[in-house]
Formats: sequence, structure tokens, C-alpha cells
Amino acid sequence: MRTLDCDVAVVGGGTAGFGAALAAARRGMSVRLIEAGPKIGGVMASCPGMPWGGGFPLGRSIGGIFDELTQRLVGMEPPAAERRACTLENFGDEVLYDHEIAVTTMVGMLDDEGVALHLNTIAGTPTVDDGRIVAVECHDRLGSMTIRPGVVIDCSGDGDVAAGAGVPYTVGDGRGNMMAVTLTFHMIDADCDRVFADDDPYFRREAARGIADGRLHPDLGKLYLMRGFHPGTVFCNTVTIRGVDGTDPASVARATQQGRTRCAQVARFLIDEVPGFERARMWSVGPSVGVRETRRFEAQAQIDGGDLIAGRKFADGIVACDNPIDDVMRTSSEMTHDASVGAGGYYTIPLGAMVPRRMTNLLFAGRLISADPVAFASVRGMPQCMVMGQAAGVVASLASAAGTTVQGVDPGEVVGALVADGVRGIGGNPL
Ligand SMILES: Cc1cc2nc3c(=O)[nH]c(=O)nc-3n(C[C@H](O)[C@H](O)[C@H](O)COP(=O)(O)OP(=O)(O)OC[C@H]3O[C@@H](n4cnc5c(N)ncnc54)[C@H](O)[C@@H]3O)c2cc1C
Repeated sequence: MRTLDCDVAVVGGGTAGFGAALAAARRGMSVRLIEAGPKIGGVMASCPGMPWGGGFPLGRSIGGIFDELTQRLVGMEPPAAERRACTLENFGDEVLYDHEIAVTTMVGMLDDEGVALHLNTIAGTPTVDDGRIVAVECHDRLGSMTIRPGVVIDCSGDGDVAAGAGVPYTVGDGRGNMMAVTLTFHMIDADCDRVFADDDPYFRREAARGIADGRLHPDLGKLYLMRGFHPGTVFCNTVTIRGVDGTDPASVARATQQGRTRCAQVARFLIDEVPGFERARMWSVGPSVGVRETRRFEAQAQIDGGDLIAGRKFADGIVACDNPIDDVMRTSSEMTHDASVGAGGYYTIPLGAMVPRRMTNLLFAGRLISADPVAFASVRGMPQCMVMGQAAGVVASLASAAGTTVQGVDPGEVVGALVADGVRGIGGNPL
């Protein structure tokens, strides 16, 4: 039996976990990042090439670790990332990047700060004593290990540790309907100028023909295709499967296999029917479906749809957001991207939505924060997840340094630290 101590244990190495681990380590914490998969990135790893969306409300960067990573990639020779306008309705600019260079850069940044990265390691049920997580049982191929953390930041998307610690949660829309999952792929060697010559960004005419002919699944009324980062590549974010429970491995495995069949059907259809794909091939199918939504946890505060419409800037807001309400097939085959934010063109995500009411050394960041179903459809962009993680890393380090609970940390101090670290549009500051 191995026992490992650390100041901060970050569970889940997606974009939120990346931000959390990096921020905590930069503030002098010993950090263990526990990731169930073989690679960091989370959804970014299961959907290689997925653009970072929503990082530029009012056309300006939200800053923080998202901006730092983007600038590192853009500044490479040749550039490994590019900011572009999203062609889909109501999304602003997004960042396209070379997936492998991005992941390597992220791991390098974690390495530089001394983060201990545990890949292929699953965090299981925590041991709770007097409102604190005193140990998290983890498993890798060598067997069990016990991590004894000062603070736990659950960035696992599904919240296995928070749920195991007894924090109340809701699933999906509250009636159990979760957003659909998607298996992505690329087409390479495409003639992109011809592919994207039509002014319909969703290829609705072609899709309708394919459905009528029985060559495409009926849920493919709109094809979500976009130029990839590299010339001649098209990122296909279109094969979406409904009714999947992202917390159930068997359900995810079935969806992934169904998705592979549907991706092959779409690729064949594009080659046969859409001008510009004649010489193209399918490439880089995701290793698993990307899961958008599972559990969301009760916290000190909850962000809701009304906050988005009002463009509310919370006093403890830690990141700006203007993503549309991107509801992906919770209850029907419709995907909607309603423009969500009112006054001021953006809202902020409150720190209180990441702090549980009772557990004194646990935080959440990323897609499991406390949000109602409407707000969840907007808050979940990867740029926001990175900065939510960054904020959680700051709280964990302040709590640890002061020997206090996460609830005892002054939100004003957190916001001040984030502003000093380049996060924009919070603390009364403009974007
Ligand atoms: C198909 C799809 C399309 C999307 N499109 C976009 C887009 O275009 N732009 C955009 O910005 N956002 C997009 N999103 C949203 C965005 O990708 C996610 O909301 C975001 O990546 C969530 O990040 P996260 O770090 O909170 O969680 P995740 O990315 O889900 O990461 C969680 C990590 O935790 C690990 N984990 C889970 N349980 C455990 C455990 N028990 N122990 C250890 N590790 C564990 C997982 O392996 C995973 O690596 C999309 C999402 C999906 C699924």
C-alpha cells in the first residue's frame, strides 16, 4: 500500500484540472494531478482539435492561464495556434491549435512547476472525517494508493470524489436528461475553399439529402464541420449520440462504438456528396465520445439563466463569459445556440459556485460547478474551465497557507490575486 501526501490533490486533468494544478503549484503548493486517462486534456483529449470557444467576450481575451497558453502557442515558430471567428451562429472568436503541440506544452508547463502527474490513475471514494477529506483512494496498474491531501480540487467533470464525499448534486436538466455526447474526427486532404464555399455553415441541404437517402442518421440535420487548424483539414464535431450516461462506463463504451460507425458513414457521405471532399480521408477519430454533462454540485452559490440574461457581474466573479446557451439535444434532436448574455455583453462566473457549503477542504472547477441547466449550457467552455481551475488553485493555496477552510478564504483576495495574474473583466475591471 502506497501513501502519498500533498498540499493539493487535483482530480481530473482536463482543462479545469490543468488550470487548477498549475495555479496551485505556482503559489508554492505541492500538487498531485490525478488523471484517469493516458493523457491530460479531458474533453480536449477525447475530441482532439476541439476549438477553445468563448475566450473573447467583447472581442477581448478573458486572460489568465487561457491567455498565457494561447500566447505560447501563437508565439511558436511556426505558430501552433490561431484565433479565428467561429462560423457557427452566436459564437465569437475561438482558438484553433495543433492538438499534439498544445498537450505537450500543457504538460511542459505542469512539469516546470513540479506538478506530480499521475496518469492512468482513478480516484475513488474519499475518506471523510469531520467535514474534511482526509484521504482519497486511487488505483493505477500497481494497485491501490492513498493520497492524503490538504485540499482536494475536483475537476473530474463527473465529480466522483465530491459525490463520494456526500456533496448533493443534480444530473443534467434535473430530470436526468443529459446533453448528448459526441465522437469527433477530422477529414484530411480536403479542398477547404470548395468545402466551405456554400454560405450555410451547417450544410443543411446536403444533410437533408443524406437523411432522406438513409445514408445519415436522422439526428444529423445540421452538419457541424469547421476548418481545422492545419490546411486541408476539416474538424467534424457532428456525430452526436443521445441518451448516454457519461458516468456509466458501459454506456460510454457503447456510444463510442456506435459513434465510430456513424463517423465512418459521415466520412463516406462527405467524400461522395460534398464538393471538396473527393480526395479526403477520415483521420484522428476521438478515442472516446466527449461527454458534455453529468453531475453538477450544490455549492454556496448557483449561477442561473437569469444571471446570464442580465449580464450579471458577481462581486466574487472569477472569469468572464459570453458563450451562447449551447444546448445539445437534452430532450430532442435540436441543437440550439441562443445568444445568452444581456447587459454589458458578458457575465462572470461566481467563486461561490465552486465552493461547497460544508466540506471544508474541497473545491470544484470546470463542468461540475453549481449552475442551473440553462447557465450550464453556457459556462462550460474550455477557456472558462481553465480559469475556473486557476481560481480554485488560488483558493486552495490561500486556505493552505492560512491554515483555514476553503469557506474561510476571502473572495476579494482571490479576485485580487487573479487580476494580478492577468485575468480580465472581474473585480470591477474592464475586459
Ligand atoms: C463534444 C463536445 C464539444 C464541445 N465543444 C466545445 C467547443 O467547441 N469549445 C469549447 O470551449 N468547449 C467545448 N465543449 C465543452 C468543453 O470541452 C468542456 O466543458 C470542458 O472541456 C470541460 O472541462 P473539465 O476540465 O471541466 O472536464 P473534462 O474535460 O471532462 O475533464 C475531466 C477529466 O477528469 C478525468 N476524470 C474523471 N473521473 C476521474 C476520476 N475518478 N479519477 C481521475 N480522473 C478522473 C477524466 O478522465 C477527464 O480527463 C465541448 C464539449 C464536448 C463534450
